[in-house]
Amino acid sequence: MRDVFADLVLGGTCVGCDRPGQPLCRPCAETLPSRAHASWPSPAPSGMVTPWSPAAYDGLVRSMVVAHKERRVLALRRPLARLVAAGVAAAVPVDGEVVLVPVPSRPGSARARGHDPTDAITREAARLLRREGYAARRVRLLVSRGAVADQAGLDAAARAANLAGSMYCPTARLRRVAGRRLHFVVCDDVLTTGATVREAQRALEAVGLGVVGVATAAATRLRRPP
Ligand SMILES: [Zn+2]
Repeated sequence: MRDVFADLVLGGTCVGCDRPGQPLCRPCAETLPSRAHASWPSPAPSGMVTPWSPAAYDGLVRSMVVAHKERRVLALRRPLARLVAAGVAAAVPVDGEVVLVPVPSRPGSARARGHDPTDAITREAARLLRREGYAARRVRLLVSRGAVADQAGLDAAARAANLAGSMYCPTARLRRVAGRRLHFVVCDDVLTTGATVREAQRALEAVGLGVVGVATAAATRLRRPP
């Protein structure tokens, strides 16, 4: 709240360098990567499709994710979406139709924040990809059942157990993508253990949808090929 107040009264500062003005100044924006690479967590969840991400989750990108999520600095949505879009572009062929599927927020958490940051970034990423010529759209196919404990503080195995079966694709939503040959990419803001996106992949595959990759704005640093 104090930060929001400061932004309103004093004007904002760049989340990267504290320069007064835009939430992301041009010099900082120019340091952001534009190409994604495979960013496997270690250990990777069994059967996981390739996760693509352009950035490590630290420094500037971490500040951007946190400010967008917790302080609703909405001007950061587009640069974050650009990072996710780079991941999607790496995951799919340019001539295919691609559906970006945001990881669903836990019931209550989007309401508590007043926005759903992952969905907002995913929707913007689809828009940026369309501008680059991709047949891309974001469809919110997945729902979280809830009753999932907070993931913070859980190790990889505990996270996977906590999340197993926690997401599903309701029939009414599935109809929106029925009868077409589409590439599905699971989208999230940050990849940590991979448990969350792996559960989203499982829930999509459980209703027969072909998941070709995972795209995130950033991945935690511990990474190594599987
Ligand atoms: Zn800056």
